[in-house]
Amino acid sequence: MSTTADVLVVGGGIQGCSSALQIARRGLKVALVEKNTAGRHASGVNAGGVRRLLRAAPEIPLSIASMRLWHEIEALVGDDCGFKVSGQIAVAEDEEGLKALEARAAEVQALGFTHEELVGRNELFEILPALSRHCVGGLVARDDGFASPYHTTMAFRRAAIAAGVDLREECRATGFARKGGVWRVETSQGPIEASTLVNCGGAWGGAVAAALGEPVPLEPIAPMMMVTSRMPEFVTPVVIGLQRKLSFKQMPNGTVLIGGGHRGVPDTARELSSVDFQKLVVSARTVADLFPIMRDAQIVRAWSGIESRMPDDLPVIGPSSTEEGAYHAFGFSAHGFQLGPIIGAIMADLVTTGRSALPIEPFRLTRF
Ligand SMILES: Cc1cc2nc3c(=O)[nH]c(=O)nc-3n(C[C@H](O)[C@H](O)[C@H](O)COP(=O)(O)OP(=O)(O)OC[C@H]3O[C@@H](n4cnc5c(N)ncnc54)[C@H](O)[C@@H]3O)c2cc1C
Repeated sequence: MSTTADVLVVGGGIQGCSSALQIARRGLKVALVEKNTAGRHASGVNAGGVRRLLRAAPEIPLSIASMRLWHEIEALVGDDCGFKVSGQIAVAEDEEGLKALEARAAEVQALGFTHEELVGRNELFEILPALSRHCVGGLVARDDGFASPYHTTMAFRRAAIAAGVDLREECRATGFARKGGVWRVETSQGPIEASTLVNCGGAWGGAVAAALGEPVPLEPIAPMMMVTSRMPEFVTPVVIGLQRKLSFKQMPNGTVLIGGGHRGVPDTARELSSVDFQKLVVSARTVADLFPIMRDAQIVRAWSGIESRMPDDLPVIGPSSTEEGAYHAFGFSAHGFQLGPIIGAIMADLVTTGRSALPIEPFRLTRF
């Protein structure tokens, strides 16, 4: 016998759990299927950066709206999610980098946003006393921060269940057909029928889109992370490299989390990824160049996670172009954690009204 729901969400990452939560809070009956366990993939293993800084222009309104939700995250999901307002700062290492930051600050201001502020050498070293003296300036978003990714995704999962979501883990959606206005989705735990389908499949979201007759040029990637043993407290904000790949933060327990764009090797078929040690060495050198104190750091662990990247580094958010009653939110291109809270609200708006008050047109699937 098939299960019925108003809405079936595929994928139990932050986007799926946040969407299921918000849709259920609008009074609809929601089923959420996750082929592994919730938070098993990108949402549970990412760097936890909660960043508006240096967002692509089309993402800025969404990122700002999501940040408002982050600042009230406890009210949203009943948990602080380890969220800390630390600020985030991008660092220029020479005059060329400083010019790029000046151009960026002017561009963002021209768009009418005020969250990115240029800082010169003096303020840069006040904010980052341990930074190497060769650096010349920075761009800061003072109300940005970081959170704990697995903790956060579990908080959204728990809140979704409390809102009545029927969560099925170890449950893979394998076939999608729509007849008479009703989706019948085959899963490893039997068929589920629902009038609306929401695809939050992450790196596997492209397979769901393809099954709906709208293939996308999604590239699975495997961003990498390293963590050190505890260090004396030396840095408060999250530091972003401008001219070299780096994202860097010291956690409340003193460990330092290093990421920022170097990639390992994804294997979406086996649902695994592996690290590339050569590239981790480059990452470690960058950190030691920018923060001399890190020359004594000990790396204790490294990992990678599977994320989906679109060719323009923007996600796919919005209605299916081929099927009524289907919506997509995938392809977050290595920076979707911060957007998680607002994606749930956007998907709930789309499902219940067919529209979003936020400008999601740049994220339409048909742009490729
Ligand atoms: C190492 C790393 C560092 C990152 N750092 C940051 C950061 O600092 N800040 C930031 O904002 N973002 C960051 N990101 C990106 C962020 O983690 C992702 O953009 C975000 O987690 C994507 O969420 P999601 O729900 O779309 O995907 P996922 O978390 O991958 O969830 C998708 C889920 O769908 C399930 N699924 C797929 N197909 C099916 C199916 N057919 N049936 C059932 N279930 C299915 C999968 O098993 C998966 O659990 C990072 C990513 C990585 C990997």
